[in-house]
Amino acid sequence: MTDCVFCKIVEGSLPTEKVAETDRLLAFRDISPAAPTHVLIIPKEHVADSVADLEPGHDELLGELFRLAARIADEEKLDAGWRVVTNVGPAAGQTVFHAHFHLMGGWARPQP
Ligand code: 5GP
Ligand code: ZN
Repeated sequence: MTDCVFCKIVEGSLPTEKVAETDRLLAFRDISPAAPTHVLIIPKEHVADSVADLEPGHDELLGELFRLAARIADEEKLDAGWRVVTNVGPAAGQTVFHAHFHLMGGWARPQP
């Protein structure tokens, strides 16, 4: 039994709106969206608490993750522009300590 919210989502013990999935990655809508389209992309395995702890063995997984981000951006019609963000540590706003990336877009105007 894990205390990690994202591990619970992967296990299926917490419900979520799934957007995409591969063998190693899961994408789902953020429960508290900070943009018109706000999707979280996570490795299914709890490989690191944040990107600060990634290792060379994760390089391929990261490449796959960015390609999945581009695929989702296409499917979600974010052609005007999108952003991928990852927070490291509480001062940066990290609240869930399972490495993850925010895919955001769908704004009506250019963002600062
Ligand atoms: P962080 O603040 O760690 O960079 O990002 C964590 C994100 O996870 C936040 O944007 C927050 O809204 C989202 N989040 C937290 N708990 C849940 C949940 O149970 N379900 C979903 N879908 N998103 C969550
Ligand atoms: Zn986890």
